[in-house]
Amino acid sequence: MAGHLTGHFDRVGVEVICAVCRRRKHPRGRDAPPSLYGCSWDECWGYPMKPHVGSLWPGESASAFGFIVGSYGTKVVWVAYPEGWDDD
Ligand SMILES: [Zn+2]
Repeated sequence: MAGHLTGHFDRVGVEVICAVCRRRKHPRGRDAPPSLYGCSWDECWGYPMKPHVGSLWPGESASAFGFIVGSYGTKVVWVAYPEGWDDD
């Protein structure tokens, strides 16, 4: 089926930089290496403030994560299925 575009919309995590400490916020509820994600709930009062962070790692998709995620810290992307995915 040439030109038949099939896929789905998905959410993908993006990097969220803290407005207070200028470090990356680690995703909510995830264990993050402090060297990479310096801003956390425990350490920074800017963590729960805007810009809000979600539950996904940057580049991780909501469907791969497997749980409902909010819109914070994500962008919506179109995931096209590989050609021939529905061929018998
Ligand atoms: Zn911070």
